[in-house]
Amino acid sequence: MGVVLDVKSGRLVAAVKAPEAARQRSTPGSILKPLFLTAALEQREVLPQTKVFCRRDLHIREGNREWNLACTHPRSDAAFAAKEALAYSCNRYFAALADRIPPRQAAAILESYGLAPTTPTSQEQKELLVLGVAGVTVSPTQLAIAYRKLALELADAQAPAALDAVREGLKDSVNYGMAHNAVVPGMEIAGKTGTASDQGQSWSHGWFAGTGYLGHKEYVVVIYLPRGNGADAALLAQRFFLATKVSAASGRAVSAP
Ligand SMILES: [Zn+2]
Repeated sequence: MGVVLDVKSGRLVAAVKAPEAARQRSTPGSILKPLFLTAALEQREVLPQTKVFCRRDLHIREGNREWNLACTHPRSDAAFAAKEALAYSCNRYFAALADRIPPRQAAAILESYGLAPTTPTSQEQKELLVLGVAGVTVSPTQLAIAYRKLALELADAQAPAALDAVREGLKDSVNYGMAHNAVVPGMEIAGKTGTASDQGQSWSHGWFAGTGYLGHKEYVVVIYLPRGNGADAALLAQRFFLATKVSAASGRAVSAP
């Protein structure tokens, strides 16, 4: 499933399986991280240079469930500041970020992007919400609308300088981080991947959400893979960007591959 929006107008440019893309609700996983980071930087709850040490292990126990949220980034025993933490999708960093924001605000941040979370009632629930593994489900269409809002905020000339960490972190995510499969030489692509499972499912699904310029126009692209992981979704995003690059070069309009 995929959704492509024109950032400036918000117009739906292309959708693969459009009705399902609007209806399907799934656990978002790491795809929410840039939304929380943007809000926490704006509120000065974290500073761009605030570092968190990561050994890649993270376990959260909530109710009768135990969550293994080990990081998958290559570097271990490293201290990450905001930009790198986003590029490497560091769960430890974002659990620490969750601890700095009040529960009601954690929910309000997602609501401001058009999502409908449950307000967390414990520290563990709040961490799970920020990590996108519990407390909220999203549709590809909802996520595309949320990322369009984020793209507009990041492009705003009045935006605080601290948001450079989000801008750069999303680009680095594609350049060398967890969304590297989406890279297309010569194209500026910024994005994030997510891998998560829905309750009661033994398999994972994959997300990619990001933006890319085609000529002077910026597009939001969201890919949802019902089975797979974020790296697979990023690869599909790359295919889309490559196809649009070719069609733009030949003078045709943007369309879904
Ligand atoms: Zn980590």
